Amino acid sequence: MLALITGASRGIGKACALELAKEGYDIVVHCSGNIAGAEETALAVRALGRKAYMFAMDFSDPENVHNFCGGVMEHAGLPDVIVNNAGICLPAQIQDISLEDWDRLMNVNLKAVFVICRDFAPAMIERGSGSIVNVSSIWGRTGSAMESSYCASKGGLVMFSKSLAQELGPSGIRVNCVSPGCIDTDMNAGYSEEERKELEDRTPLGRFGTPGDVAKAVAFLASDKASFITGADLLVDGGFSI
Ligand code: NAD
Repeated sequence: MLALITGASRGIGKACALELAKEGYDIVVHCSGNIAGAEETALAVRALGRKAYMFAMDFSDPENVHNFCGGVMEHAGLPDVIVNNAGICLPAQIQDISLEDWDRLMNVNLKAVFVICRDFAPAMIERGSGSIVNVSSIWGRTGSAMESSYCASKGGLVMFSKSLAQELGPSGIRVNCVSPGCIDTDMNAGYSEEERKELEDRTPLGRFGTPGDVAKAVAFLASDKASFITGADLLVDGGFSI
């Protein structure tokens, strides 16, 4: 069994790679440019007795994403599980968001997911099975000041996933989302102590989540334990958005 994880060089993607390797999957470890991080993930996967295939590709250009899918098919094969985790956040006030930044964020967070699903769908449909888990965000549900492009991309990802779930369900393919809350990764390294404390206080479980917290939810949705679950958007936020 093969699982493809985008953005697996660190953070949530790396944790997903290790969790799925523990579940018995060989792993396609994708990174954008952090080769050292991807190598670390690949080594850890191999230490768990599974195969790891490494691919470096910048998803800012959709053509790259298409080439990436071709490379995966040729060198690793058709994934059983796809975890679309790669994502960026470019916080800014609306008047300061350039068209270039808007396009770059949408390309990485949303268009790359579309291209990956589009490119693998025909073979998955022919095989009659597959599980896709897309990593959205609670901010894609609630919106957030200074993050309008990020929130738009993550909200769009949920609706894209629900639509695909309806379209691909009859072919035996499940499509779900997880929406993490505040998770302890490099993406949140910019918070001050004060901001972090405020976010922890707003979280009923009183802490930031770990990448492993999200990975366990992803592994559940990917697995047969979730065999009658499709089109779901599972909150992994310690109660933040209740
Ligand atoms: P991270 O910054 O550590 O990881 C982001 C990953 O995206 C990296 O592994 C990187 O390789 C990949 N990536 C970045 N730019 C890319 C590009 N141009 N092309 C291809 N890949 C690229 O952050 P993380 O917290 O581990 O985020 C993982 C996912 O979880 C993201 O989609 C993020 O939006 C989502 N998320 C994170 C949080 C959080 O609090 N950390 C909350 C909600 C959702």
